Amino acid sequence: MIKQLHALPPVGLGLIPELEAPFMKDPASLKYGQKLPEFEKAKGPPSNAIFEIKEIEEGSKFTFPYKDGTRTVQLQRILFRSHGIIGRGTIVVRVVCACTHCVPNQCDWSGKKLVLKLSFPSVSRVPEQAFMDRCKEKAKGEHAWVLNHLPDIYCSFDIPCGERSPQANFKKKFEDKYEMRFLRGSIQDELQPLSTLETALECAQVFYDIVQCHHWVHTYPRILHRDISDGNIMVRVKDGKKYGVLNDWDLAMWLDEREGISTSQFRTGTRPYMAHEQHSPDWEGPHRYRHDMESLFYVILLLATLFSNPCEKDHEHSKKRQPYTKWFTQGDEFLYDKKALIIFDFLWQPIPNQFFSAFHQWLKSLQRCLYVGFTAYKYFVELQSDTPNQVLSFNDDTLDDHFSYDKFVLIMHRFSEEDLATHGSEWQGKLRGLQKDEDERKK
Ligand SMILES: [Zn+2]
Repeated sequence: MIKQLHALPPVGLGLIPELEAPFMKDPASLKYGQKLPEFEKAKGPPSNAIFEIKEIEEGSKFTFPYKDGTRTVQLQRILFRSHGIIGRGTIVVRVVCACTHCVPNQCDWSGKKLVLKLSFPSVSRVPEQAFMDRCKEKAKGEHAWVLNHLPDIYCSFDIPCGERSPQANFKKKFEDKYEMRFLRGSIQDELQPLSTLETALECAQVFYDIVQCHHWVHTYPRILHRDISDGNIMVRVKDGKKYGVLNDWDLAMWLDEREGISTSQFRTGTRPYMAHEQHSPDWEGPHRYRHDMESLFYVILLLATLFSNPCEKDHEHSKKRQPYTKWFTQGDEFLYDKKALIIFDFLWQPIPNQFFSAFHQWLKSLQRCLYVGFTAYKYFVELQSDTPNQVLSFNDDTLDDHFSYDKFVLIMHRFSEEDLATHGSEWQGKLRGLQKDEDERKK
């Protein structure tokens, strides 16, 4: 038996959806928390759905809607539960197909490594399968490489909350101020966490894969991920090779639907990794791709300094000169200050642990891009207020080309004297052009 899960994100009320759909009555061992929030006393609608799954027993079954009927899986092991994520709670459990004829050729899930993912998004959220289906449509021919770097979602389902659930009561009481949530689940291909990587070079390739995948998804299906964190960067092992996978598209959005989205919906992500602007109460959005790239910078920084190697925390870290442990417990004001101190320090130096020492160059170069970009932005804002009649332009997506995909690829295509794998003819061509320029310069 797996120990009780503690209540998820530290904000909002303890809201436990009371699920009344008939298929939910089957998994008797999957009990939802009993104590209901005293919603009558609540002064405002909860900003978050906190759910609690009392116990999950290995071997118990879970049945969910599938095509015109239902399908059942057997629960095996909890692999992940979210913490500190704004907007939802997520749980990932390893499962196996529990059909009666589960043998190869008869069952499409036979022999596959599957996970069941459960979360409680608001009803307006696009399911990640919709984003991934669009990616699959576009990932043909020379674009097919990107499928190695995206999750493989076999099916997904939504289960609404019952009429007598606390959810429905909140809705009645607060009407439009309360966003209804439901249980969303999916069955996906199991991926490996970053902790399974064995060398710094493997880590570097995974991070470089993430940049290339993010660029492709932003450019072709036009989707913005919006939640880059260490937990959402996964590894797929295929034919003995390891691929970085940009996972968990629950908070993603269609780029072309960015207009008309409120600031509260723009402020998404996993707190320690969010872009520094997003911690400011004055920030009004929109969420841009450079915010995700800033998050990736923090993922690399925190891994390289908080960990002795990918699977072991550095226990001495809190005694060091740049302690990042507080990033996981402090609020927005603290994080805004700490991140701004890094970005605006011309002399900033990362202090990676020995295993990750070769990341020093990447981190320093990426920080320099942030420094130059935000310095240019500050100058632009000042100039604009001094000369209100002059038409000035500044590319906010890339901090005027100082913090762009181009910069990331240029910095990250090499790691510690080694060329990493660059996928797709687009970037391969760009890099060839660049190398030519460099050779010309050397002549
Ligand atoms: Zn089966």
